[in-house]
Amino acid sequence: MGERPKKLRAGFVAIVGRPNVGKSTLLNRVLGEKIAIVSPRPQTTRTRILGIHNAPDVQLAFFDTPGLHRAEGALNRRMVEVALATLSEVDAVLLLVEAGTGPGGRVEVGEATRWAVEQVARSGKPAILGISKMDRAPRESLLPVIAAYKDLHAWAEIVPFSALTGENVGTLLSTLAGHLPESEAPLFPPDVLTDQAERQIAAEYVREQAMLRLRDEVPYAVAVEVEEFDESERERGPRGLVRISALLHVERASQKAIVIGKRGAMLKEIGTGAREGLERLLGCKVYLALHVRVDERWSERAQSLRRFGL
Ligand code: GDP
Ligand code: MG
Repeated sequence: MGERPKKLRAGFVAIVGRPNVGKSTLLNRVLGEKIAIVSPRPQTTRTRILGIHNAPDVQLAFFDTPGLHRAEGALNRRMVEVALATLSEVDAVLLLVEAGTGPGGRVEVGEATRWAVEQVARSGKPAILGISKMDRAPRESLLPVIAAYKDLHAWAEIVPFSALTGENVGTLLSTLAGHLPESEAPLFPPDVLTDQAERQIAAEYVREQAMLRLRDEVPYAVAVEVEEFDESERERGPRGLVRISALLHVERASQKAIVIGKRGAMLKEIGTGAREGLERLLGCKVYLALHVRVDERWSERAQSLRRFGL
């Protein structure tokens, strides 16, 4: 008997979960490129980001989403709305929770996580529970974590993995693929990695450095807008160069002073960090100029949110 040719499976998967569980790190790991910024702070991701993974017979189109959390303020409410709206547009949902137990090996499933599970349940989509950061948890602690989450929902599957080491990410991908519809043709051409323009990613790389280096409320008061992205000298071989000029908006004069730092030291650090990342991403030299502007209460004004693509 001749074998039937394997059908292509292609579809959309929403990566959702509480802030900081490792959603963006997983997307970057799967794509092998850093398109989503990552920081130890919650609410680093502000918009939804499409990243497409291609494998033989499989195309997985992931939406990385802002974390599900109790939202206060216009920006935060918008972020949660975006994450929830994504649930209704996908073929399968990947909900992430962190591996690891508390004192005495106990696993507490918090109110906020229960709420996130409820939202996933309400979507009616096949849901895979991903237990992230398994590199940080001793093997034997995975069982109590699985036990604590198992009965919260009729999970299609439960898969522990580490986006940091890559352990079990392959299993996670094939598990997800099994829940996608069969398709005659891929959803995207194979050379499309993301819906984010390089210009947007550049703005995000600058914001990532702000998230990493600033404290308290200041990183949350920063929005970055790329004003110039000049590629005219990009194809000059080894001397190729992209010139980028970006504006960091903050909400108050006091924040502007902090972002600039003593004699410009902080802004310089932010710029150096972002430039190094961008040179890796773009594969050429980058000239990056940063400026800071006070834009009072931008995070509360619909007009500014739209302007920053939020
Ligand atoms: P998100 O808010 O869910 O998108 O989470 P991020 O991807 O921004 O990650 C939040 C923090 O967790 C960052 O400091 C990451 O470096 C860290 N992190 C993410 N995945 C892993 C992992 O698999 N193992 C470990 N040890 N840390 C991780
Ligand atoms: Mg994120």
